[in-house]
Amino acid sequence: MRSIGAALNDLGLEMCWTHRTTDALAVIVSDASLAALLVAWETPGTENLLTAVRSRFHRLPVFLMPSDGQDLPLWVYEVIHGYVFPMEDTPTFIAGRIAHAAEEYADRLLPPFFGALYRLEDKHRYSWHTPAHAGGVAFLKSPVGRVFFDFYGERLLRTDLSISVPELGSPLDHTGPIGEAERNAARVFGADRTFFVLNGSSTANRIAGHHAIARGDAVVVDRNCHKSVQHALTITGACPVYLVPERNGLGLAGPIRPSALDAATLSQRIESHPLATGDPTYGVITNSTYDGLCYDAVRVGELLGPVVPRLHFDEAWFAYARFNPLYARRYGMAIDERTMPGGDRPTVFATQSTHKLLAALSQASMLHVRSAERAPVDYSRLNETYNMHASTSPLYPMMASLDVAAAMMDGPSGAFLTGEAIAEAIRFRQAMTRLASRIREDGRRPEWFFEVWQPPSVLDPSTGQTVAFADADPALLATEPRCWALEPEASWHGFGGLAEGYCLLDPIKVTIVCPGADAVDGTTEWGIPARIVAAYLTRRGIVVEKTGDHTLLVLFSMGITKGKWGTLIDALTDFKQAFDADLPLQEVLPGFGPPATTLRRFCEQVHTVIRDSGAATLLDEVFTNLPEPVVAPSECHQALIRSGTERVPLSDLPDRIIATSIAVTPPGIPMLMPGEDTGPGDGPIMTYLRTLEAFDLAFPDLATEIHGAHRDAQGRYQIEVMTR
Ligand SMILES: *Cc1c(COP(=O)(O)O)cnc(C)c1O
Repeated sequence: MRSIGAALNDLGLEMCWTHRTTDALAVIVSDASLAALLVAWETPGTENLLTAVRSRFHRLPVFLMPSDGQDLPLWVYEVIHGYVFPMEDTPTFIAGRIAHAAEEYADRLLPPFFGALYRLEDKHRYSWHTPAHAGGVAFLKSPVGRVFFDFYGERLLRTDLSISVPELGSPLDHTGPIGEAERNAARVFGADRTFFVLNGSSTANRIAGHHAIARGDAVVVDRNCHKSVQHALTITGACPVYLVPERNGLGLAGPIRPSALDAATLSQRIESHPLATGDPTYGVITNSTYDGLCYDAVRVGELLGPVVPRLHFDEAWFAYARFNPLYARRYGMAIDERTMPGGDRPTVFATQSTHKLLAALSQASMLHVRSAERAPVDYSRLNETYNMHASTSPLYPMMASLDVAAAMMDGPSGAFLTGEAIAEAIRFRQAMTRLASRIREDGRRPEWFFEVWQPPSVLDPSTGQTVAFADADPALLATEPRCWALEPEASWHGFGGLAEGYCLLDPIKVTIVCPGADAVDGTTEWGIPARIVAAYLTRRGIVVEKTGDHTLLVLFSMGITKGKWGTLIDALTDFKQAFDADLPLQEVLPGFGPPATTLRRFCEQVHTVIRDSGAATLLDEVFTNLPEPVVAPSECHQALIRSGTERVPLSDLPDRIIATSIAVTPPGIPMLMPGEDTGPGDGPIMTYLRTLEAFDLAFPDLATEIHGAHRDAQGRYQIEVMTR
């Protein structure tokens, strides 16, 4: 073995060897640069090793050193690439065979576009085309340019090429390696056609809407939609009929009830709508939601199919769904002839921010399409819309990252990578739950601790027994969707109107709940505002994804490292200690909040304001009764660019028509959309806005993130409305 290792070294490869299967397993799981594997069949645990290889790598060359005359299990033949006989062949010969297989493997790894770029870059040619930095050379002519060049390195700049390099194909016509890469991605993500979009799902959403909606069309839109969906409504001149999601006592946005998607309900809504007329042409649903609630997409297709011929799932946060059986049926491309036969199947669009939860550069996004008879897609026409939103100077390294992201999820590695993130999230969830109960049982500290929003217990289908979440088998939690379903009768989630299996909590999106709010009862007597905890975590170098009044959202993405969450638990425990010890606020969070108070008193003070303002209940009222739509969003935009709007303080806001949307994050659901009436001065919208403004004036360090409200010099809101 040593001689083989030395010979491999001479060929530029490094050999790592062990007698123990556990060590080998650790390498297989953690080292993606593995290029070949050499295994002695009689080593105990070899079958486990080969199983691990098969579930992680596609085509990794495995060589077996067989023991004499033994018949191998059939599946082993499928995994191995060949045999090696160390006693019969020379080490140089064996090393040569391994190196050759490793090289072939490495070569086949590269997906179409990245492969073409990789090979082209090797050619070191001069360019006479844009970009003018010409492989980075222009930067070398200036001191600051030199710093930039050294910072990013030559390779990034060398592969920043123009659309006029013929070998790479055209992103606007989808030809050559770029077209091949898109077709490969379509196969991997289960679409008829996939378009690479380089300005984020913001652009992908505008493309989908701009393609599907004609001026004046009635469309059915999730109220919990991203700004870019509103942009699509504005540029197309659509008449939106909004679908309102559920909310719970924690202020989290839930799913839209199935009863709200029903054809009869919707036709009645359109009939009584002041602006919308005719049959709706398009529907858009956010899936999953920010907080990790994902629909049974096939069910949504069955409900909305008879209503809209084109159904768009905004899956900005959900590109990984197809690669783990836990999410079966939960993503747009799961709607096909098999899952939804019959003429009601809509044409489905899915937009995914590849960069958000897979591995790709920021802005890298995909638009997937599955065409149905109802509204067949003419791809050359769709491409006209695509080109309206595309740049003629795309960034090729970003394009390559899309190609690589698809290849990374192909074959067994998609399930492996998503499985790893799910497993870590489950470990964190169980560790938090166990810690909370240990604190309670120990009795020496105040009993409170941070909780995690999840089912308190799960049913093990194999035994029929219900077990506490913390004691459930992690393997069961990682594979059984029913463990994560929002059962209609369960109370932990706080949402009403659900149906069996309709909605699932994605384990990788973890909501940490601070004391002070309950999914069912809303704000409770005492509590700790999440924004103070978030400020503390930031000081500790931990940045959470989203902060609500009493919730913190953390994501277990593929970038998670084992045990990274240990530092988060540690910081939360330290916060508890500082709170319980009643430490001075300025000692815990220097420069934050008022002087001369303690962490605990400050938390109590802020919580009391949140509680007494009744903000949670108000917000509920705001969303329960949709405001009156008066003009279409496109008309508001016309007014905006033609001086037909003005900014007014809250005192002048009652009974006005809003010109740009207003959304408070979280929950991020707009309370007012362009063209809607603000309602009377004592109505829920006006009361809520005044409450928020007062809170922000009282606690500037904890100010609400509110889109669509400009702040004047005194910190008072100014809102854009249509001129009377
Ligand atoms: C982030 C987001 C988008 C926009 O995606 P980008 O890739 O950032 O442009 C669209 N929809 C939803 C639901 C999002 O969260």
